[in-house]
Amino acid sequence: MNYISTRGQAPAVTASQAILNGIAPDGGLYVPEDWPDIKLDWAVLKKQTYSDIATQIFDAFFDDFSVAEIDHVVTKAYGKQWDTTNIVSTHQEADLTYMELFHGPTLAFKDIALQALPHLLTTAAKKQGTRDKIIILTATSGDTGTAAMSGFGNVEQTEIVVFYPEVGVSDIQRQQMKTESADNAHVIAITGNFDDAQKAVKSLLSDQRLVHDLQTNQMQFSSANSINIGRLVPQIVYYIYTYAQLVKNNNIKPGDAINIVVPTGNFGNILAAYYANQIGLPVKQFVVASNENNVLTDFFKTGKYDRQRAFKVTNAPAMDILVSSNLERLLYFASGKNSEEIRNYMRDLSEKGEYTLNSATRQNLSQFVSGFATQTQVSETIKAVARATQYTIDPHTAVARYVYGKQEIAGPTLLAATASPYKFPQTVLQALGITPQADFEALKQLAQATNTDIPSPVMDLFAKPVRHKQVIAAKEILATLRHEIL
Ligand SMILES: *Cc1c(COP(=O)(O)O)cnc(C)c1O
Repeated sequence: MNYISTRGQAPAVTASQAILNGIAPDGGLYVPEDWPDIKLDWAVLKKQTYSDIATQIFDAFFDDFSVAEIDHVVTKAYGKQWDTTNIVSTHQEADLTYMELFHGPTLAFKDIALQALPHLLTTAAKKQGTRDKIIILTATSGDTGTAAMSGFGNVEQTEIVVFYPEVGVSDIQRQQMKTESADNAHVIAITGNFDDAQKAVKSLLSDQRLVHDLQTNQMQFSSANSINIGRLVPQIVYYIYTYAQLVKNNNIKPGDAINIVVPTGNFGNILAAYYANQIGLPVKQFVVASNENNVLTDFFKTGKYDRQRAFKVTNAPAMDILVSSNLERLLYFASGKNSEEIRNYMRDLSEKGEYTLNSATRQNLSQFVSGFATQTQVSETIKAVARATQYTIDPHTAVARYVYGKQEIAGPTLLAATASPYKFPQTVLQALGITPQADFEALKQLAQATNTDIPSPVMDLFAKPVRHKQVIAAKEILATLRHEIL
């Protein structure tokens, strides 16, 4: 099975090449040329472990990897670093199933893919016969950077460089980044917001002189960003696994269509749900939940994507985003694989800041509904859910929970719980009506208020030595990177 570009002007490549390349050379995103032929037999799947199912999905999508190579990746990715052997657990509230994706080392759903990606990438490099050191460059609004460092930390043949904005990350995220102990990790704060950091990093990736200098030193850039197919495929697994668990627990019968609600930023998580649907997961509706950066809400309601609006820093910061890159992959399929149409949309987006779907493509998106939550609604939702059910959710999960309630969605529904409340203790405590203290004290307050245990990955976070103190202006990024790497 080959991977082709959504923009249709790059050669087809194998899975391992697509993982190494990250983005296609024509600026498009890699998509599978055909859907892999796998049969989802729920009577079998319901008895399987998370790793069993991951192995099958990886085998199907990464078909140039050997069985031994996939086993190696899955074993490394889903081991003792998780605080539940099931990897993903669930919490039931009537018809609604919270799919808890935050039991990994950095307490957010990105761990699921980023514990696997480094091993996919180094295996792909071996297969392609490259000895180059792989330089992972990321701009992060908080969760990607920490999850990427946890995954890539001390993985041979890689260096990981993380730029994060001084404004907008939570105290826990900042502390996680500043105390990262891996020898191959470089962590630098940039004055400004996430958009500033993102722009600065993009300028590095397209700097031909820099790319050339890396090459002479036997290095190459790669991406841990969610546009990498190596991040997308691991996210398909939890939708299949959780559905199988619902069958096992008699919440649903095999074949029952479910709704899926996802707090959405770059559109990676919900796109994985769509991919799962394409290979046989029965889905009724996909619910795209946004915060006040509600470009996608308007898009699914009107067919017009309009990024021309102010960027807002909200209390669900991992979703503060105006251009959702992975949407391009959905549109590719909705357009009937019309890469010319996709090129036109993306050109309009970059030249005019907006594009409008044609009616045929729009009609193919009728399974998608959308809504958004304001910061106040996020707080109120955290409080209401805690009051009614004694279950505490994080602000991102609350965005999804609010939109779910508002849409009055009927029938069995999966809701992606994307972060632990312990990752955002200040926001959660405030929502519960408690005045938060700083740092570790806030974690203790949260444990007390919710009668839960502080997760082990943050238990000693504030006792760790701070190793990364650099703060730079965006214009210093090139010199800084050269100094760190070359
Ligand atoms: C990254 C992230 C999201 C958004 O996921 P996308 O795949 O970018 O749509 C939502 N919640 C949390 C906690 C995240 O870290």
